[in-house]
Amino acid sequence: MNLENKVALVTGAGRGIGKGIALSLAKSGADIAFTNRNKTYSDQTKSEIEALGRRCLAFQADVTNVEAIEEMTATVQKTFSKIDILVNNAGVTQDNLFLRMKRDEWDRVLDVNLTGIFNMTKAVIKGMIRQRHGRIINITSVVGFTGNSGQVNYSSAKSGILGFTKSLARELGSRNITCNAIAPGYIETDMTSALNEEQSKYILDQIPLGRMGSVEDIAQAVCFLASDAANYVTGTTLHVNGGMYC
Ligand code: NDP
Repeated sequence: MNLENKVALVTGAGRGIGKGIALSLAKSGADIAFTNRNKTYSDQTKSEIEALGRRCLAFQADVTNVEAIEEMTATVQKTFSKIDILVNNAGVTQDNLFLRMKRDEWDRVLDVNLTGIFNMTKAVIKGMIRQRHGRIINITSVVGFTGNSGQVNYSSAKSGILGFTKSLARELGSRNITCNAIAPGYIETDMTSALNEEQSKYILDQIPLGRMGSVEDIAQAVCFLASDAANYVTGTTLHVNGGMYC
């Protein structure tokens, strides 16, 4: 996928899937801006992107902090002159059975996973409309489709992303801006490292391809949706889950 002369902004790219996405976009030729919270992870990702010969701006802007996000996007616009691709990847889990789930566990997960996407998209959209080009790619989850015990908050946020994606695609199609989602299955990252042996076996038994996904599996799907090969794709969800849900 050729993304030369493109500028991509990726949230949650300090580690895990977001880092894989940022590196793959950079390998395809894009300059990268990204945000996360932890400076050590951030420095590492930034140096790996720069080692690929791409320009990179790194921020510690929390996606729930509107002021920090606006400051960040203004800096990216000023430095790189534009933002072509926004990848809304930052996400958190705070699992609990519904009967035990506290209101703040609900609020935090909705704030980061869903309202964070609203905040980020608001901050970049005017620039995309002005340049009459843009790609918005939202990372949802297979559990946004299937639900999952202990994840009422997380699966609600991930389902919400689907409505957001479809509605925005309808609103912005006439401006040559596409908006799509990617729904990963179980991917090997810190988020899934807490699974015990029994849980891992249960999950693997449901995956026809017989393995957990890698961050590269998701990153390749992002590169496709960001590229000209996906010019006529909008409002859809690409399932990348080894066949566990179709
Ligand atoms: P990780 O927990 O490994 O990484 C999450 C990243 O998001 C980190 O870089 C973290 O920053 C960043 N982040 C978290 N909260 C915020 C915030 N408020 N503001 C800015 N950055 C933030 O998660 P994964 O890589 O596994 O998941 C990435 C996305 O993929 C998430 O949306 C997740 O829901 C989704 N997903 C993951 C699956 C999986 O199996 N792993 C399956 C389906 C979907 P820091 O490094 O500073 O902590």
